Amino acid sequence: MSLRHTKIVATLGPASSSLEVLGRMIDAGLDVARLNFSHGSPDEHRARARLVRELALERERPVGLLGDLQGPKIRIGKFAHGKITLERGQKFVLDVHCPVGDETRVGLDYPDLPRDVRPGDVLLLDDGKIRLQVDYVAGDRIHTTVLVGGVLSDHKGINRQGGGLSAPALTAKDMEDIRLAAELDVDFLAVSFPKNAADIYMARQLMRAAGGHALIIAKIERIEAVQNLEEILQASDGIMVARGDLAVEVGDAAVPALQKKMLRLAREHKRLAITATQMMESMIESPVPTRAEVSDVANAVLDGTDAVMLSAETASGRYPVETVEAMHRVCLEAERSQESSLDRELLDRVFTRIDEAIAMSAIWTGWHLRVKAIAAMTQTGATALWMSRINSGVPIFALTPDAHTRNQMTLYRQVTPILVSQVHQDRDEMLWEAEKILLERGIVAYDDLIALTIGEPIGVPGGTNTLKIVRVGQTLRAAVPPV
Ligand code: PGA
Ligand code: MN
Repeated sequence: MSLRHTKIVATLGPASSSLEVLGRMIDAGLDVARLNFSHGSPDEHRARARLVRELALERERPVGLLGDLQGPKIRIGKFAHGKITLERGQKFVLDVHCPVGDETRVGLDYPDLPRDVRPGDVLLLDDGKIRLQVDYVAGDRIHTTVLVGGVLSDHKGINRQGGGLSAPALTAKDMEDIRLAAELDVDFLAVSFPKNAADIYMARQLMRAAGGHALIIAKIERIEAVQNLEEILQASDGIMVARGDLAVEVGDAAVPALQKKMLRLAREHKRLAITATQMMESMIESPVPTRAEVSDVANAVLDGTDAVMLSAETASGRYPVETVEAMHRVCLEAERSQESSLDRELLDRVFTRIDEAIAMSAIWTGWHLRVKAIAAMTQTGATALWMSRINSGVPIFALTPDAHTRNQMTLYRQVTPILVSQVHQDRDEMLWEAEKILLERGIVAYDDLIALTIGEPIGVPGGTNTLKIVRVGQTLRAAVPPV
């Protein structure tokens, strides 16, 4: 059995919205489908969400749904002919009131930008491909000199090097999209460009008010978010290392070390982490990844990410299925090479909660006994989350009667979520039910050792209080003596 621990998130778009392609992506190992609210209409997102749910049901394989808000990405307006070419050294004006741009000026969708910038600031357009230096600001016009030129087309994004732009994290469009996300019952909501914990609380509140269940993922893509990482981790359920915009703000060379630090801190805070952007970029056009991309994905796995993410590769690329296949293969191999650091990590931990202590005991015992699997009966997914924060290498099967919990666990590293339809009130019957499910799925065989965790009374959130180690089939043989 080749069970991959690291999860794969893939963005849906024109290249991946047909029944056939999306079905093949799921078969290739897609765990979470991302709806990018920066592109597409509400009806397109509705159709994609429906397709994901249908295919997951048909295949009896849980697939999570992530809605990603556009956020206050500042963009230029449009040009008379769709694009222009900027030459190094030429003057160029960003003008709030310019309706249609030309070679000398272009509009802006964020009227406060002229108040946010100072002479000498460097503005980066189109993910840093074009750089403008601010000469001076006159009213609603920013006068600049082109430092690095190139082709600039309609509606490209603008960042300021060093961050510090004042736009609030949730725009009016984001608030509408949160309602759409709740309607689609997404499992995760990614908040773009948050600066602090307050931005995350606000998104969570709006999500709850709209009746949604989603876990909240903070995209770390602003300098302020890096500075406030601790409070953002406290406020969110997980983070995304959003390397695209982050690299523009902090400089690309600072990103690899930040990635390692963020992934470590997320684990320490018992939070989820997704590593995103350009992971398999060349596969937009090519059926095989570059050596550097293979290394990048493998290193994110070794850094301890829960999931690796695909953007344009699957949204608009030529090889969406092949990209998921390549990622699956690279993750598996990286995991195989990884040494478990269990002993060192667990020694100086202090637990105050019973359920957390049981979760850790299951990992500790399961690892030392080399059990085939850990089966955690869980209502909210909390025990599975705690177990998955430890890099033990032991596969965790999280059994829940709650369909939302099942879907949210699609992002947890090392965890395979399973929906149980039969809930028994008797502990031993419930544990036997779990054994049976693992047996039926071919995950374990008779006489394999497994570790089971459960709470009594059954079905109470936060109630895990029991760890049991069994040999598979023991109970059955005791009940039915061999003839
Ligand atoms: P985006 O976020 O793709 O929505 O911009 C990810 C990133 O910035 O890396
Ligand atoms: Mn971004």
